[in-house]
Amino acid sequence: MTENLKTYLVLPHYDAGLLSPEELEQLAALARKYNIPATKITGAQRIAFLGMEEEAVVALKDELGLPEGKPEQRSRVHYIQACPGKTWCKYGHQDALSLAERIKKLEMDGPLPAKVKVGISGCRFCCCESWMRDIGLAGESKGWRLTFGGNAAGRPRIGDIIADRLSGDEAVELVRKALNYYRQEATSKTRTARFAERLGVEGLKKAVLG
Ligand code: SF4
Repeated sequence: MTENLKTYLVLPHYDAGLLSPEELEQLAALARKYNIPATKITGAQRIAFLGMEEEAVVALKDELGLPEGKPEQRSRVHYIQACPGKTWCKYGHQDALSLAERIKKLEMDGPLPAKVKVGISGCRFCCCESWMRDIGLAGESKGWRLTFGGNAAGRPRIGDIIADRLSGDEAVELVRKALNYYRQEATSKTRTARFAERLGVEGLKKAVLG
């Protein structure tokens, strides 16, 4: 939840932007029930209920099964953007949605130092801006290419290539290793982009590719 002047927003979690008909119906019913002024698909492929009064937030979060208070430090990635991939897009080389499902479930060895955003694109067109995410995956004809340390904010950074030609299993395992290395070596609140700038990624590559 983010305070915005005198109103609030609520972000239900639907990673990779996938929504079933039942979830769409539930969201529509809740938007009507709470008279929500604006419902928006965010850049992160999530749904935002905007302009809520404070009293309605608790009840709505309860209905959505969202925890109260500030989010705890996470040992999982913050969110995942994924494109339709080869299942639904004619340009796709790899299955972006399946990979998103697997990475979403990854549990690191402890809390991560800062938010980790993941962008998974089924081909080099990179519709999910993989180069600009903490963890970027892009599908190529021979497998996945993994990048680390991208960021699209005030000081943008293109991620560094860690490996390519990865199978789905190899990509998931490498993401887990890279994020565990990052959690061990980075100070609290240091995003991957600043971490990669300060230390370079050679140490990370040595640690995770050996
Ligand atoms: S990144 Fe490639 S596979 Fe994914 S939606 Fe864009 S064009 Fe299609």
